[in-house]
Amino acid sequence: MLRRVMIFMVVVLCPVAALAQQNKRIAIRAGQLIDGKSDTPVKNAVIVVEAGKIVSVTPDGAVPTGAEVIDLSHATVLPGFIDAHTHILLQGDVTAADYDEQLLKQSIPYRAILAARNARIALEHGFTTLRDLETEGAMYADVDVKTAIARGEVPGARLFVSTRAMAPTGTYPLLGYSWELDLPHGVQVVDGVDNARLAVREQVAHGADWIKYYSDHGYYFTPDGVLHSHVNFTDEEARAIVEEAHRIGHRVAAHAIGSDGIAAALRAGVDSIEHGDGFTDELLDQTVKQRVYWCPTITVGAYVAPGRGGNWRPMVEAERKAFAKGLQKGVKIVFGTDVGGFPWTEVNEAREFRYYVEYGMTPMQAIQTATSSAAELLDWSGRLGTIEPGKLADIVAVAKDPLADIGELEHVRFVMKEGVVYKNEF
Ligand SMILES: [Zn+2]
Repeated sequence: MLRRVMIFMVVVLCPVAALAQQNKRIAIRAGQLIDGKSDTPVKNAVIVVEAGKIVSVTPDGAVPTGAEVIDLSHATVLPGFIDAHTHILLQGDVTAADYDEQLLKQSIPYRAILAARNARIALEHGFTTLRDLETEGAMYADVDVKTAIARGEVPGARLFVSTRAMAPTGTYPLLGYSWELDLPHGVQVVDGVDNARLAVREQVAHGADWIKYYSDHGYYFTPDGVLHSHVNFTDEEARAIVEEAHRIGHRVAAHAIGSDGIAAALRAGVDSIEHGDGFTDELLDQTVKQRVYWCPTITVGAYVAPGRGGNWRPMVEAERKAFAKGLQKGVKIVFGTDVGGFPWTEVNEAREFRYYVEYGMTPMQAIQTATSSAAELLDWSGRLGTIEPGKLADIVAVAKDPLADIGELEHVRFVMKEGVVYKNEF
């Protein structure tokens, strides 16, 4: 036990120490480098980091004089992972009771403390960036956690946040309680075009990077095997959300599980489809045509299906088939897990990589969904997603070769974010 504690070295730095570390010149010796973009790895690369950024990447390179050396010469080095669908303010919701209890019995400050812990768990698992897709009733607490991390007050993954998300009256929990009660909502309830535009402006004013809305609910299969759903917003409302967000420079993610919800989200012009279990051939073609990203979140579906019963197991199967077709058609699949929908403390979100490989991707393709492709979704390709000169120094490492066993990515042993080392077990 003691030995475990001694070798598990997590370096938590105060802002001053972090700054000092950022100002040093660091040379990382990488036994094998997967840069997030290339089809093949590079052997024995030297990565030079200065002021939080990657200065150079040289195959068989020499260490510059005066640089502090980090020896990862027996490891595989990769860009920090990006999970493009998370909920730091949620601790698992297999059942409605799990969800309701968090909104009814936990204060928002308490939930924010757990959120900070979750952002740290993500970082220790190699996820240096998260796109957090709504606070589930915790208002704008994601903005506060993001700010505290960005200022170096607490260690955690870099956050892109979407604050409250939107759904119309009667479509999103808490639902089913006596009408006499005034209860919290898991989203900002929005009805009508003007209110949709107002909600976008409010959320952006309070710090939303992304806008998220729920395109559908109530999922059911028809005898032809197609997964359908009830669409939440009128086309006019959904278009108002997307147009307003785009007009003021923000991207839009839509929760869309059934084919009807996916079709409605595509008509509205969203930037990413979340979940997408009910993708049909036609909808996959349309997604390619519109250059829309797809975050499959397979881990959450597989985790909640046994406890939820009903259509949830067949939905996982439907998505497996859709994934293979989407991959074949060239849909831009981006790594997203919906962690928070499953507990942060129980499942490492890197589990998602194994599903992608099991569903037909090569290990390298799977890695790129969480690196270069995810950075592109975030419109941060210039700063994140690859190990190249000029990029932020978000670098992780594993002991064995993830191209031989993708499950190795669930055992990240080295984490650097913006030039600061948060974990080094080598
Ligand atoms: Zn989600």
